[in-house]
Amino acid sequence: MIWTDEAIETLKLMWPLEKNTAAVIAAALGTTRNAVIGKAHRLKLAKRPHKTFAQLGPKDCRYNLHIDTWNPTKGADEWCGQPVKEGKPYCEAHCRVAYRKASEPHTRGEG
Ligand SMILES: [Zn+2]
Repeated sequence: MIWTDEAIETLKLMWPLEKNTAAVIAAALGTTRNAVIGKAHRLKLAKRPHKTFAQLGPKDCRYNLHIDTWNPTKGADEWCGQPVKEGKPYCEAHCRVAYRKASEPHTRGEG
């Protein structure tokens, strides 16, 4: 497993979610469960209690952890809750995700 910046970023984003077991993350990254656990340990990633929207403070990251699999019927009320970057609504990792998505060029039909 070569840990590219992108792979590390994916690991950091997936790791806090309860449903993302090491096996799920390993499958997403195309590596082994042991590689994922080892890397998470080296990055000192810890499982954290997720916050519900009502628990978010003014300086807590408002990135929904289920944004990619949004399904209101499953009650996806889990938010990042990490300290935000100065002047931003999200923590550093989620700023990168949110602004990368927002800045993707819009595809318009040419001609
Ligand atoms: Zn965040």
